[in-house]
Amino acid sequence: MNKKSILTLALLVSAAIPVLADAPVITKEIRLNKKGKEVEYMFIDGIKVHETDPAKQPQPKVVNPKPYDAKAAKAPANAKILFDGTEESFQNWTDTEGGPTKWKLVDGALESVRKSGYIQSKEQWGSCRLHIEFATPVTVKGNGQGRGNSGVFLMGQYELQVLDSYQNPTYPDGQCGAIYGRSKPLVNASRKPGEWQTYDITFHRPIFNEKGEVTRRAKFHVVHNGIVIQDNVELYGGTGWRGPHSVSEYKKHEDKGYLKFQDHGNPVRYRNIWMVEIDD
Ligand code: MG
Repeated sequence: MNKKSILTLALLVSAAIPVLADAPVITKEIRLNKKGKEVEYMFIDGIKVHETDPAKQPQPKVVNPKPYDAKAAKAPANAKILFDGTEESFQNWTDTEGGPTKWKLVDGALESVRKSGYIQSKEQWGSCRLHIEFATPVTVKGNGQGRGNSGVFLMGQYELQVLDSYQNPTYPDGQCGAIYGRSKPLVNASRKPGEWQTYDITFHRPIFNEKGEVTRRAKFHVVHNGIVIQDNVELYGGTGWRGPHSVSEYKKHEDKGYLKFQDHGNPVRYRNIWMVEIDD
């Protein structure tokens, strides 16, 4: 074979092999904090979890979403209505012990009450398509993680962050639309405080084998106010808080879990919540 045909063959072979995205390189380090206490630091592709330095972890670009679209927010015929503003649908929610929630029903919305704990759905789900609307407080208080903080917890544990990220910089993997500590949003599509915002989430649950190993990772696709912010993102672990710069690993759990919203001390509101289950 001459040089040209070898080159052609090499090009054909390389074209035939699909290029797959590499798994992120995740490393951990123990560092001492100011008090001399050991703290775990996690790095994903060399970037520290909750990195605030824009030179190392740029802030997502701010984009202007279109106005709220009531037609797009309407539940399809096959959806389960989890909350529609009525007293009856308020009964679909409990505290984390299954008792009555201390969250309030205010003007057709579920409102987080400080120190009341998470609110959770009565039923449990795995993979699903989920529509949620939320509004951070119109009265702006605090900054960073202290402003309009809540969170949507799929299966009670995989957190899609809810935060007032309108002119409120924080670490990108913890801003509104972040999969907490794992994936920053592609863009910042936040509306102003007090305005209703939408999340349209497609979530595939993780699958574990008997040894507790993940055989299929969880996956999120998230549309925020009509704009894709998480594009079929595979989770390489959990989103649980494990210190200021580290999040949890996968831990085997049941095939279904409660949908939870976080009480982070700020009166964030939710409304129009519906879900369509997805077969695995
Ligand atoms: Mg949160």
